[in-house]
Amino acid sequence: KAADAASIEGKNVVKTFGGFTAVDDISFAIGKGEFVSLIGPSGCGKSTLMLIAAGLQPLSTGAILVNGARLDRPLTDIGIVFQDHLLLDFRTALDNVLLQAEIRGLPMEPARARAMELFEKLGIAHAADRYPKQLSGGMRQRVSIARALIHDPSMLMMDEPFGALDAITRTQIRHDLELLWMETGKTVLFITHSLEEAIGLSDRVLVMSPSPGRIVDEIKVELPRPRPAHLGDYP
Ligand code: ADP
Ligand code: MG
Repeated sequence: KAADAASIEGKNVVKTFGGFTAVDDISFAIGKGEFVSLIGPSGCGKSTLMLIAAGLQPLSTGAILVNGARLDRPLTDIGIVFQDHLLLDFRTALDNVLLQAEIRGLPMEPARARAMELFEKLGIAHAADRYPKQLSGGMRQRVSIARALIHDPSMLMMDEPFGALDAITRTQIRHDLELLWMETGKTVLFITHSLEEAIGLSDRVLVMSPSPGRIVDEIKVELPRPRPAHLGDYP
């Protein structure tokens, strides 16, 4: 499965909005199956960098390479958990996930089974038929994670997925996420405010600073931690 995971690389990525430089000459590389966190203060350009890496926002100069090939359109083999979970209020939890399957042209019956399997793993199977407004923040976040995983993408990007949650819910979802990652070994880019969370979850932490947005430090995490068997030991 690790062989299915994608590698992603940024080369001298610059993004300006008018005269303002939000991302200033950032280069980075995320290997297949690696779990990398991006941290930094509000406004330093984390979301912008993620959207560029996903091919959703055009860059000003530089390039994104996915599996070595230059990215010039939105990545499709990717699941994204956006900063505000962006669920549709008028669809049930399950239908929010199935809509994503439909948009991606997946056959519906297997997609429904997979959605329920993800809901089971994330502990929200009992809430499949509820509407987002009937769910807690943590449950909505789990629906959003299930939606990002419905097509079994080889890469997952999450933008402060636990931002608005209380500490206990954070810890629970974080644990579920770790298990999911352990099972699948996807390549993950995880954005967070919390250094503790970043170190707890990732192989590497990229530290950004604002004005202009740059990667100013990189922390290699060497905590002894379970790791998906198919990825082998830490390099
Ligand atoms: P972060 O996710 O780290 O909080 P963002 O990537 O959202 O930071 O934003 C980085 C900077 O770029 C901020 O100063 C923000 O105001 C600015 N910015 C982001 N998107 C736009 C946009 N579409 N137009 C103008 N400025 C933007
Ligand atoms: Mg952001």
